[in-house]
Amino acid sequence: MQHFFTTSRKTAKLNSKNMNSTCPKSENCPIFKGGVLKRAESEQVYRNLYCNSGEKNYSKCVRYIVSEKTGKSAPTDILPNCSKDLNEIIKKVQETK
Ligand code: SF4
Repeated sequence: MQHFFTTSRKTAKLNSKNMNSTCPKSENCPIFKGGVLKRAESEQVYRNLYCNSGEKNYSKCVRYIVSEKTGKSAPTDILPNCSKDLNEIIKKVQETK
């Protein structure tokens, strides 16, 4: 029983840490830095939903996925929830120098 509680506490701590972790792309991401969109509130919503909400959420961000696949930053007009064809975005980014 002791082991169960110890393990549960460790798991809860790990989950909580993961939930609060910030996207590793944030340092160079214009959406995270802000000043790109007309409404600062929109950038904050993206930060809350993706950037600052742990790997489970930032790994769903289109900008994050494009960066992971290409090693390059996505164009500024690509938002975290962009509905454009992902393969097309990746192809375009790969073609840019
Ligand atoms: S989650 Fe997306 S928008 Fe946020 S910092 Fe990472 S790449 Fe940028």
